[in-house]
Amino acid sequence: MPAAKAGPFNGPDARGRFSGYGGRFVPETLMGPLEELEKAYRDAVLDPGFHKELDRLFRTYAGRPTPLTPARRFAAHIGKGRIYLKREDLTHTGAHKINNALGQILLARRMGKSRIIAETGAGQHGVATATVAALFGMECEIYMGTEDMRRQALNVFRMRLLGAKVRPVDSGSRTLKDAINEAMRDWVTNVADTHYLLGSVLGAHPYPWMVRDFQAVIGREAREQILAAEGRLPELLVACVGGGSNAIGLFYDFLREPGIRMIGVEAGGRGPALGDHAARFEGGSKGVLQGTLSYVLQDENGQIAGTHSVSAGLDYPAIGPEHAALHDSGRVQYTSVRDEAALEAFRLLSRTEGIIPALESAHAIAELLRRGPELEPDTLVIVNLSGRGDKDVNQVAEILNQDDLKGRSE
Ligand SMILES: *Cc1c(COP(=O)(O)O)cnc(C)c1O
Repeated sequence: MPAAKAGPFNGPDARGRFSGYGGRFVPETLMGPLEELEKAYRDAVLDPGFHKELDRLFRTYAGRPTPLTPARRFAAHIGKGRIYLKREDLTHTGAHKINNALGQILLARRMGKSRIIAETGAGQHGVATATVAALFGMECEIYMGTEDMRRQALNVFRMRLLGAKVRPVDSGSRTLKDAINEAMRDWVTNVADTHYLLGSVLGAHPYPWMVRDFQAVIGREAREQILAAEGRLPELLVACVGGGSNAIGLFYDFLREPGIRMIGVEAGGRGPALGDHAARFEGGSKGVLQGTLSYVLQDENGQIAGTHSVSAGLDYPAIGPEHAALHDSGRVQYTSVRDEAALEAFRLLSRTEGIIPALESAHAIAELLRRGPELEPDTLVIVNLSGRGDKDVNQVAEILNQDDLKGRSE
């Protein structure tokens, strides 16, 4: 387990490796910018003023601490367990991504940068980035594939409303991977005034380490809250895993507690065929994507495979390198949940708790439904509710119509 015995701001090894995963697999032109960023982050970590300012933004802007909500009717439905939801859905902009965006923009300002770039697939990270850029009065450009822009027109509008420029990327598959390439190109060219705000625990060192630290506030709060509510630590933590930032955010502070089981839930999509899911541990193998060595969905020639998930936030061919290390060490278990099960969980949580979860978070809820029979009556569980489901309501309405599940919703 990588440096898990050290404090929350101690990282991977000096080369940015988590038990061999991670690192910096980038063209020579990106080495300088990454080294500059690493140095700035190491300085910031040692500066109490940086933490104080971030904490102030968390409280006064993002709405932290987020509540830990007992899910009694949901637990009653399962029949066992004492289940709590960590409510990242209640943050400003409705998901945990704002935690990382605030941390990075504070760092960008510290580095004297005046311009922020990012790439986005579904638009969630683009919106979080545009939000913090507006707050700090920085210029902001978001790269987005034209196919994604078509599918996520409302988020394109949101980003523009927030003052960001959305740059259409019309090459390749016109989706996230192509947008990443364009954003990298921009960064190399404009690094003097530009910070590249990466959205998950992905990319080259120091991103996976830095983003994890910014998200670790989730687990630190959850620990305090569960101790206050129950007087003991949880036995089980469950979170969905796209790139892996909300999951490591919840898990990190608990990694050193041997009694706590942790489950990361990937997108099982339509089924196990390559191209139909985003379950990197079940269907992937070691490979490099976006500058980092991890588990990647690829064909036998190393070409990155297509992916599918009902939830855009989990639909990505690589997983963060720290998760690869946690997987191999056995410290965290990874599993996958298919689209239908996630949709069922989406409906169930809405009805039992009055909380419409993001489709991503619904994967974690679905895993808990499946595990129900294994729980003891008093098993203490925390599920990370990474985001709210308002963004998914139109899509779910369409799917439920198609599948003719509508009849069941009276
Ligand atoms: C982006 C997103 C995710 C997936 O990203 P991670 O880095 O794996 O956390 C999960 N849930 C929501 C609500 C998201 O917006």
